[in-house]
Amino acid sequence: MEIKIIKCLQDNYSYLLIDKKNNSACVIDPSESDPIINYVEKNKINLKFILNTHHHFDHIGGNKDLKKKYKSKIIGFEKDKNRIPEIDICLNDRDIWKGDNFELKIYHIPGHTLGHVCYHFFKQNILFTGDTLFSLGCGRIFEGTYNQMFSSLQLIKSFPLETKIYCGHEYSLKNSEFCINHDKKNSALIKKIELIKEAINNGLPSMPSTIKEELECNIFLKAKDVDTFSKLRDLKDKS
Ligand code: ZN
Ligand code: FE
Repeated sequence: MEIKIIKCLQDNYSYLLIDKKNNSACVIDPSESDPIINYVEKNKINLKFILNTHHHFDHIGGNKDLKKKYKSKIIGFEKDKNRIPEIDICLNDRDIWKGDNFELKIYHIPGHTLGHVCYHFFKQNILFTGDTLFSLGCGRIFEGTYNQMFSSLQLIKSFPLETKIYCGHEYSLKNSEFCINHDKKNSALIKKIELIKEAINNGLPSMPSTIKEELECNIFLKAKDVDTFSKLRDLKDKS
């Protein structure tokens, strides 16, 4: 399996998980169809599945075109089926799903939206966190409660340390400013910021991160309780 990171819209990432054996792929959160089509055509990839982490337009914008062009099956959260355009396969919290060589477990992680999910490809140990966990940050709470978001982040924290994290947006550098302001002496954070700057300066994504790095550096994951977390979230919203 190989992951191709595809930049979309302003600062979104869509991800192609490619099974090199038969050149088939899943796409996670296609913000728009054109950049995906370009890559798929150039590399003669069979786009079998489309996965959405949540219903926001910048995560589902490519669903319709891609399904029409490649007859891909669209996968999403059962309880959000009315908001995921053209959904074919509805999954429930903690379901394991297999299609071709792709195998994943879905986790319901509400907060950013009520139907937000993440996808864990447990064989490769990679996690697509959408707009719930960002590198050095977390999503805004649009539909859920602070409690829900805090619990969702606790769940993400429980994945193995070496789990690779792929987030919905390139917010790492901006997020790092907030983290360092509240955590000035964190040497792991200082080191991570250097690496993020290096990637961005070279026109590269700062993804993937890992659970270990986020536990060490992400101020929202370091919050001990929901009150601390809520205060940080409010401060970040105002920043
Ligand atoms: Zn969103
Ligand atoms: Fe988004």
